[in-house]
Amino acid sequence: MRCKKCTATAVSENPVLCKKHFLEHVEEVVHHTLVSRRLVRKAEKIGVALSGGKDSITLLYLLRKFHGKVEAIAIDEGIEGYREKTLEDAKKFCGKHRIRMSIHSFRDEFGFSLDQRLTKKDRPCSVCGILRRNVLNKYARAFDKLATGHNMDDEAQAILMNLLRFNWEALPRGGPKPGIIRDEAFVPRIKPLYFLTEKQVALYALLMGFGVGFAECPNARLSYRAFVRDLLNEYESQHPGTKEKLVQFYLVLQSKLKTKVSSAPLSHCLRCGMPSKGDYCAACQTARVVVN
Ligand code: SF4
Ligand SMILES: [Zn+2]
Ligand SMILES: [Zn+2]
Repeated sequence: MRCKKCTATAVSENPVLCKKHFLEHVEEVVHHTLVSRRLVRKAEKIGVALSGGKDSITLLYLLRKFHGKVEAIAIDEGIEGYREKTLEDAKKFCGKHRIRMSIHSFRDEFGFSLDQRLTKKDRPCSVCGILRRNVLNKYARAFDKLATGHNMDDEAQAILMNLLRFNWEALPRGGPKPGIIRDEAFVPRIKPLYFLTEKQVALYALLMGFGVGFAECPNARLSYRAFVRDLLNEYESQHPGTKEKLVQFYLVLQSKLKTKVSSAPLSHCLRCGMPSKGDYCAACQTARVVVN
């Protein structure tokens, strides 16, 4: 198969491009997302949520290239046999590219690791997600924005999950620049990889030689997201373009929803100060199971 822009052998099927043109294509997509969606302003300092996987490393690299003012924030949830390795990759990458990186652990923040916190009844990703968001938000306050490595696959999964769970309140909060909730305790989030598929990001990371592993968290397969992911992947293989259409459909819908849904002011958690619907936020309620 030949590249559609030159005569070299293609390394990518979607779009059909050689290595040079594929790398250029990915960078153009991210640059265009940053500019057309006004994700960053010149003077802003951006915190990048870094897990050490292909998405967040690619994100960090490209934001550093196009914007410059970036620092990495990594979370150590305490997942034995998995997180140590990805944090090592993250540290190596930041060392090589001279990017400042901070690591914050569940153990320091809540007094336990995720492995210690989980019981047989728990859905690991629900517990992890609540606690992780809390810690990320806390340390993102030192920045103007927090960038996350969500790609098009992640977004298509989130959209479908919200629909299937009748989670309509979360529906308007997606997109490359979410931010329907305006609260000084929340740092605005941006998703510069929004218009790239997971495969494109993985190939970019591989071709760039970022040296990241592709292992998945051992808890991931137990999540509802994994079920939706498999379903979407199966559907995509039968009907190529499904994920992209789902995301495009969502963006049109979202532009209408944002004006309809009121962003009522939230109160703040009595323990950590994060926005919360009740006296304590979801993270503090989750953490207190062990703390008490
Ligand atoms: S897959 Fe689930 S448990 Fe593992 S890091 Fe992600 S959210 Fe946490
Ligand atoms: Zn080419
Ligand atoms: Zn709290």
